[in-house]
Amino acid sequence: MKDNNIWNNYTKEELNELEALNSDYIDFLSKGKTERECVKLLIKEAELKGYKDLNEIVKMKKSLVPGDKVYSNCMDKTLLMINIGEDDITKGMNILGAHLDSPRLDVKQNPLYENSEIAYLDTHYYGGIKKYQWVTLPLAIHGVIVKKDGTKINVVVGENENDPVFFISDLLIHLSAEQLEKKSAKVIEGEQLDVIVGSIPLGKEEKDAVKINILKILHDKYSIEEDDFWSAELEVVPAGPAREAGFDRSMVISYGHDDRVCAYTSMVAMLEVDKPKRTSCGLFVDKEEIGSVGATGMQSKFFENTMAEILELMGVYSEINLRRTLASCNMLSSDVSAAYDPTFDNVYDKKNSAMFGRGLVFNKYTGSRGKGGSNDANPEYLAYLRNILHKNNVSFQSSELGKVDAGGGGTIAYIMALYGMNVVDSGVPVLNMHAPWEVVSKADVYEAMKGYKAFLLEA
Ligand code: MN
Ligand code: MN
Repeated sequence: MKDNNIWNNYTKEELNELEALNSDYIDFLSKGKTERECVKLLIKEAELKGYKDLNEIVKMKKSLVPGDKVYSNCMDKTLLMINIGEDDITKGMNILGAHLDSPRLDVKQNPLYENSEIAYLDTHYYGGIKKYQWVTLPLAIHGVIVKKDGTKINVVVGENENDPVFFISDLLIHLSAEQLEKKSAKVIEGEQLDVIVGSIPLGKEEKDAVKINILKILHDKYSIEEDDFWSAELEVVPAGPAREAGFDRSMVISYGHDDRVCAYTSMVAMLEVDKPKRTSCGLFVDKEEIGSVGATGMQSKFFENTMAEILELMGVYSEINLRRTLASCNMLSSDVSAAYDPTFDNVYDKKNSAMFGRGLVFNKYTGSRGKGGSNDANPEYLAYLRNILHKNNVSFQSSELGKVDAGGGGTIAYIMALYGMNVVDSGVPVLNMHAPWEVVSKADVYEAMKGYKAFLLEA
C-alpha cells in the first residue's frame, strides 16, 4: 500500500494510457445516464470483443467450452458477462460486480399537471439524495415509454445542444427568510421536486391549456397519449456531458460516477482479459441504490439462474456443482467509496479515509452503528488481494465510510457473501457522492482498471 500521491510515479506511457482510459470513460458517462443505456453500451463493447448472447446459445442448443465468452441480459437493466477459463468452473470464478443505477428523479405514473399556467412533471426521487441539490439545474429526461401494443419508445431530451432542458424552481433569496430557517432536509421537500416542462397555453383551450399544449407536443413527437405515462420509466437526470475538472485536468466531474466508474473500469478489465485460466465474470446490476431489490437487483435469482444455465451448457450442471461453483468464487464488489473532503474533515477519520490520487480503495466493511449490516471481509482474503496488487504494481488504499457513527452505507457485497464466497468492497473514491455532479480522480480510475484486471488474471 503506497502512502504517497501516485501522480508523480507515472511514466509518460502510463500517463497516456491513463488519459486514453479517462477520455473513453467520459464518453461512456455522457452517453450512459440510465441503467438501460449503460447495458446497451456494455453489450455493444462486449460483442465487439466476441461475446455472444447466452439466450441465442440456449436457443441453438449449443454447448459452452473454455474460451467461450457470453453475456446474459436481464430485462435490459442488469448484465452478466462470462469469459470461460480453462480451469474446472466448480473451483470458482473471479467476479467483478458493480451497479449501473444512480440516484435521480423518476417521473411518476400520473405525472403531468398544470398550476398557474406552468406545466409540471411530478417525480419521486430514487436513491439517497440531498433534495436541495436538485433545484435550479438544467435537467434531461431519459427513459422508455411502452405503449399498450408493446411498442417501446426511447426518450432522450436535454443532451443535444439544440435540445430544450428542464428544471426545478427554487425560491429567490429575496423571499427566503423563512425557508432559510428550515433544516436542510426540509428546505426542499420530496413533493416539491416537480420538473417544469412548459408555459405556453394551447390557443382556444380554457382549462389546463398549457398542459394540453405539452400533450400535443408529446403526441406529435412520440405519438403518445397522456395514459402512456402509466407504462413508462422516465428518469430525470442532470443535463450535459461529463468533463475534465481542475486547471491540471486531474479529475472528472459527472453525473453517475456512483457506480458507473466501477462498472466502466470492470468492463474494460473484463474485455482486456483473453483466455483466462480461471473463469472471469462481470456483473453489472440495477437497483443497488434502493436496496438491490426487484428482478434486476442483486437479490434477484438472476445470477444464480444464469450460472445454472451456464453449468448446464458446459455439461456439468448439478445442484452440488452449482453450490460449489458459487461458494468457491472470489469477488470484488466494486463500488465507490467516500473521498476525504478537507472542507468537512469533522466526519472523517483521516488515517482511515480514501484520498484522491492514491488508487483503488478497499472497504473491509461498510455498515453503520457498530458495522451493522456490513459484509466484513476476512483478513485471509485481504492478504491474498494485497499480494496480487503488489505483484502488479497497483496503488491501493483502505478506507472506512467516515468516522465511527458518522453515518454509513451498503453495497451488494453482503448479498454475494450469502453463497459463502470471498468478497470485499473495492472501488474508486468519489467527492460529492450522490450529488447531481460527482467527482473522481483520473489516477484512481486508472488504478481501479489495473487492479480489476490483475484480479481477474489471478488463477
Ligand atoms: Mn454505489
Ligand atoms: Mn450510491
